[in-house]
Amino acid sequence: MARPSLKVLEKEKPKTDLATEQSLYEVRKKIYPRAVHGWFAAWRWALVWATQLVFYGGAWLEWNGRQAVLFDIAQRKFYIFGLVFWPQDFIYLTALLVVSALSLFLFTAVAGRLWCGYACPQTVYTEIFMWVEKLIEGDRAQRIRLDRGGLSARKLGLKAGKHAAWLAIALWTGFTFVGYFTPIRGLWHDVWSANAGAWSTFWILFYGFATYGNAGWMREQVCKYMCPYARFQSAMFDPDTLIITYDPQRGEPRGPRARGADLKQLELGDCVDCGICVQVCPTGIDIRKGLQYECIGCAACIDGCNQVMDKMGYARGLIRYSTEHAMQRGLDRAQTLKRAFRPRVLVYSAILWIVIVAAAASIWLRVPLKVDVIRDRAAIAREVEGGRIENVYRLQIMNTTEKPRRFALAAEGLPTLALASPAEVDVPGASTSEVPVRLRIDPGAAAPGTHRIEFEVRALDERDVKVEEKSVFIVR
Ligand code: SF4
Ligand code: SF4
Repeated sequence: MARPSLKVLEKEKPKTDLATEQSLYEVRKKIYPRAVHGWFAAWRWALVWATQLVFYGGAWLEWNGRQAVLFDIAQRKFYIFGLVFWPQDFIYLTALLVVSALSLFLFTAVAGRLWCGYACPQTVYTEIFMWVEKLIEGDRAQRIRLDRGGLSARKLGLKAGKHAAWLAIALWTGFTFVGYFTPIRGLWHDVWSANAGAWSTFWILFYGFATYGNAGWMREQVCKYMCPYARFQSAMFDPDTLIITYDPQRGEPRGPRARGADLKQLELGDCVDCGICVQVCPTGIDIRKGLQYECIGCAACIDGCNQVMDKMGYARGLIRYSTEHAMQRGLDRAQTLKRAFRPRVLVYSAILWIVIVAAAASIWLRVPLKVDVIRDRAAIAREVEGGRIENVYRLQIMNTTEKPRRFALAAEGLPTLALASPAEVDVPGASTSEVPVRLRIDPGAAAPGTHRIEFEVRALDERDVKVEEKSVFIVR
């Protein structure tokens, strides 16, 4: 049998490789979300205001003559209102991360992507940037017309105005962010007098351009391709998780009709196929196709569809928060909510409360004093006047309050053990003092060897502020 020539084989080779690769890298189609009003949009805006008031305003709050919230990395101290946290308080950062993670698990198990839809910075800044865009270029139809139209002075003016406004917001955001790490009033003065340090300038520009790029240009692509949470959130869903759902039993068959038309006669469901739910969607998806990973749970499609239902005189809720079980089994609202209290949710809630209460109690009971005892390694034990034995230590005394304090030092654990250095020491507020301490015992008071002793450091103005630290006394 004749073998096919190489040329023939080349011709017959399927062209799947190239075709597959091309389909994987879909060119982005610009999305023009239509403005929407309604209950959920109002909630989203309430959260935009709340989060941004805290973020932009928090950096300017004063407390006891200093910035109320300041993460002073250079000095390795975090100030949060009346509390000062040190690197030794790392456990509280761990608790904060555990609480954040558990909250995310809990809210996702109960109501899907609540965080993404209402409070995520990407959503919040995109909302602000879209509001600016609408203010300058108009709503969806006007923006589409503007982009499709030719270059003109008006178009250039509108685009320049929009980008200038975006950049102003973005740079202010970058400035505020850096203002949490370096005192914001000084930073403000430095920026205006062109004296800001290289690192401050870098981080203001970096964070500013990240905001401009993510909220102005990337938008839904951040959620679709960059955010890891979008990828694993489906693993936290179960059939009783509230998700934004289109009700196909009620909506289908979809189709246009006149207002007041007889649906039975037309054999149509409630969906008028107006496409509003797609037009308002910031990620450009059609929720009628079912739950998709691109859905950030913003509920804009609920508000949009409810407006259509109102106009048509139909009941609201063709698109609504519901669960897979509620849809399949026809559960009513009370039955659906009851299923929210399932074991998984109760376990998450219990662990979350335990961690919150433990962390709060630990902060409440925290002694604002830390002491480290370091033995002087150069002189293990030495004989001084009168044949006494002396050991030398360094005490690191950390006053974690903001007021200066005087501390009394004492040691016990051996007969005749006494301080041969000053018994009181002053430590300024929110700082550490390193104090050399000499301890002595009388000759023959202890056998040669290593003996356990205990230092006590106590604030003179508050009896409860005291720390006991163990160490050893060596006799040779
Ligand atoms: S907005 Fe409501 S009625 Fe209009 S297409 Fe979407 S689901 Fe159908
Ligand atoms: S489908 Fe609805 S809830 Fe999901 S992102 Fe689009 S508008 Fe928001």
